[in-house]
Amino acid sequence: MLDKVVIANRGEIALRIQRACREMGIKTVAVHSTADNNLKHVLLADETVCIGPPPSTESYLDMPSIIAAAEVTDAVGIHPGYGFLSENADFAERVETSGFVFIGPPASAIRLMGDKVSAIRAMKSAGVPCVPGSDGPLEDDPDENIRIARDIGYPIIIKASGGGGGRGMRVVHAEASLIAAITVTKAEARAAFNNDVVYMEKFLETPRHVEFQLLADSHGNAVHLGERDCSMQRRHQKVIEEAPAPGLSEEQRNHIGERCVRACQEMGYRSAGTFEFLYEKGEFYFIEMNTRLQVEHPVTEMITGIDIVREQLRIAAGEKLSITQDDVRIQGHAIECRLNAEDPKNFMPSPGLITLWHAPGGPGVRVDSHVYSGYKVPPYYDSMIGKLITHGSDRNAAIARMKIALDEIVIDGIKTNVPLHQEIFQHAAFQQGGTDIHYLEKRLGLV
Ligand code: ADP
Repeated sequence: MLDKVVIANRGEIALRIQRACREMGIKTVAVHSTADNNLKHVLLADETVCIGPPPSTESYLDMPSIIAAAEVTDAVGIHPGYGFLSENADFAERVETSGFVFIGPPASAIRLMGDKVSAIRAMKSAGVPCVPGSDGPLEDDPDENIRIARDIGYPIIIKASGGGGGRGMRVVHAEASLIAAITVTKAEARAAFNNDVVYMEKFLETPRHVEFQLLADSHGNAVHLGERDCSMQRRHQKVIEEAPAPGLSEEQRNHIGERCVRACQEMGYRSAGTFEFLYEKGEFYFIEMNTRLQVEHPVTEMITGIDIVREQLRIAAGEKLSITQDDVRIQGHAIECRLNAEDPKNFMPSPGLITLWHAPGGPGVRVDSHVYSGYKVPPYYDSMIGKLITHGSDRNAAIARMKIALDEIVIDGIKTNVPLHQEIFQHAAFQQGGTDIHYLEKRLGLV
């Protein structure tokens, strides 16, 4: 097993990784910026290394500082968490060439999946269903592009192959605006991602976001842990996630899950990964793969009893998966609410001192958060201060527990989105389940 691991992240996920390490007897090194001396995992780490000033470009994104921290502490591996450098193939490569274990997939898989055109090709070859589209980059041939769009049928979406974070996409509703839209998306993609490859896809109007969790080891074994529904979004940011996806049959789950397993095996994938799909009218359409641990991984852990971070650490140490597909059993239902330090009405960040924090508890309640009474939320990073997760024998039971947990939680001193969650849990449509990705924004009057 790995002896000592650098946690190259902050906040709740750094604490989550540290907990898994401690359970497994792995020593932890917390690297942090000068704004983060008081983070819970920094206070609990075996060793700490300050890697720079508050801006993440000078600390959490600074590859040489993080690798140097591993060197001076004699660490064996580096866990990137999510965000920051977690999907940076160059970082994964530099970690490995510096002699450390990257606790994540091979750089080649990150690179392959980071380019959407190559990702879609790899998925098709494994039999994973994709959105009907141009089957590759668009050429500089207006007549041909008009023909492709007609074949697909409007509305269509033009997407940058190198895009990410919801950027580099443009919806086109009619032929008259197609060619101009391609030109503009290409120019934007060149400026933003230094890659002007764009492709075309059918634009799905009322899809749900359903994603599959995969685990793969370096011995060619891979399993899927079922799916999560993350359709409750605002500005492409997930707000509430749940597992399993309401209304999905076991047959559909196995059908798609098996194809994702095959895709992992074909590309030599290793570690945890997520296949994201749009799901509409009973059909799945692959959109992208996230080659990292995800924020919402706990809902899958709650319904399967499998510790995803523990598996990542074992896989990185070269061990085989501790489970086979037959061991994966889905029990009950789990829901996660992301807790953000923000105004629940206008969504403005609300950093500052948390004067009082009281976490909810009881059966089936899990709180993944690094904050505590007296903790000051710095203004420099993402506003998420934790996640509230409930599990129950079925969806209604998980909802009932979440409502109680949201009533119990106390976070004084800053504004949070707890009132927004409380409101959403009263919605009849949410209670029924299966709302599409536009539901929340429409309901909030944002679109
Ligand atoms: P990114 O890497 O920027 O997150 P994705 O390919 O995951 O890009 O797409 C982000 C979001 O854009 C999706 O969650 C969905 O809301 C929307 N989207 C992408 N492709 C389509 C499509 N073909 N039809 C409808 N919506 C889409």
